[in-house]
Amino acid sequence: MTDLIRLSAAELAEKIHSREVSAVEVAQAHLDRIEAVDGSADGPGVHAFLHVASEAALESASLVDASLAVGTAPASPLAGVPLALKDVFTTIDMPTTAGSKILEGWRPPYDATLTARLRAAGVTILGKTNMDEFAMGSSTEYSAYGATHNPWDLTRVPGGSGGGSAAALAAFEAPLSIGTDTGGSIRQPAAFTGTVGVKPTYGGVSRYGLIACASSLDQGGPCARTVLDAALLHEVIGGHDPLDSTSIDAPVPAVVAAAREGANGDLSGLRVGVVREMGGEGYQPGVRASFDGALRQLEKLGAEIVEVSCPHFEYGLAAYYLILPSEVSSNLARFDAMRYGLRVDEGASAEAVMAATREAGFGPEVKRRIILGTYALSSGYYDAYYGQAQKVRTLISRDFAAAFAQADVLVSPTTPTTAFPIGDKVDDPLAMYLNDLATIPTNLAGTAGMSVPSGLADGLPVGLQIMAPALGEAVMYRVAAAYESTREPLVAPEVKA
Ligand code: GLN
Repeated sequence: MTDLIRLSAAELAEKIHSREVSAVEVAQAHLDRIEAVDGSADGPGVHAFLHVASEAALESASLVDASLAVGTAPASPLAGVPLALKDVFTTIDMPTTAGSKILEGWRPPYDATLTARLRAAGVTILGKTNMDEFAMGSSTEYSAYGATHNPWDLTRVPGGSGGGSAAALAAFEAPLSIGTDTGGSIRQPAAFTGTVGVKPTYGGVSRYGLIACASSLDQGGPCARTVLDAALLHEVIGGHDPLDSTSIDAPVPAVVAAAREGANGDLSGLRVGVVREMGGEGYQPGVRASFDGALRQLEKLGAEIVEVSCPHFEYGLAAYYLILPSEVSSNLARFDAMRYGLRVDEGASAEAVMAATREAGFGPEVKRRIILGTYALSSGYYDAYYGQAQKVRTLISRDFAAAFAQADVLVSPTTPTTAFPIGDKVDDPLAMYLNDLATIPTNLAGTAGMSVPSGLADGLPVGLQIMAPALGEAVMYRVAAAYESTREPLVAPEVKA
């Protein structure tokens, strides 16, 4: 039998729906793989998962098999295909920690809309993946449950905050996963692990039941090993949700058709904009070389390469680190020892219990951002910090608008460097923040972006970032699929756990 774990989601779906293999067999093959390579927080292994839901996964798969056996059409193109879910989406039948001690043991009373859509589509949810606490971080080292290891080199980080979701793909523990991207947490881990990650247009995927980091930036999205698989998942999770007030009430862009069209490898007539301000100083030479190689390929596919300028992108990081902490300081106020998870019963007053619980339950990076945000929003400073940052946000949106008048998509390296060693940046917040230099502008503007593998630099994966206007996902997927068709897939070396 073919090695089921090596197949794409599209290939698996075809075999399951034609009943060549059962969804249960496919689920079991992935659960066995997780058992073999995932290890634990302290032991060797990838440690992509915080919770593996073996029984629920097999049960869900067997329902798909039973329904196919009586001739019912599959519930969706991904029915029976396994998926790993970032532990920031609520699941009624599994713990949801957001990588934090403050939510240890908490059982959500409801499913996120995204979770519910996956279930309705018959997708097999294998479990919940590791992440930086409340999605703040770029390495998954800020998880309260131990770091995730990059399958390409277990001594290196897989990126973050969705390092678990990306590592699970690269280690063949799942063909699909879900991430969230507030400043790069889908795209940067995709780049570090040689996988595909998509940040949809803000409002394209429901945030209902997504534990908030920064609400005006957060966006769930699909992660996979191929562009087509990401597109298939995008169409399952995307679309209007009345339970999310910022959800876009418009049809999901036709990304599956676009990915299939792109695979034909013809981009003639398309303009690809290279952002002058991205990819220069501070970028690893191997990353730049890989990017230049990608540009040559895009040109060979018929695209016209044009240079565009986005002069305000350089202020993106600074603006982001005022806006994000401001929203975090407000969103995380709800963890008050009364409503969710942890309660440290010390002290005579509610305030004392709250303080003791937040002191024990939050890690240092989360505390740093709550303090920064509280400061930025405090009276007398509000206009100087938060207000200014919001103005920068407008300027960045205008830069994008001007650039998209000259080009159909924009491209850049996804990250300045390849995956760095575990421990390297954990005590240097600014060095950690710089990982998201190229991804943050897209979040600030609410537009779409994705990362696709563009090769290796010094033996480690590099990502090409493709950016599109709001709701412009179709052209983005088309370019990504065309580019993907020019290269061999990146396959991580066998993990020795
Ligand atoms: N690394 C960025 C941060 O720490 C982005 C996080 C994210 O996208 N969730 O804020």
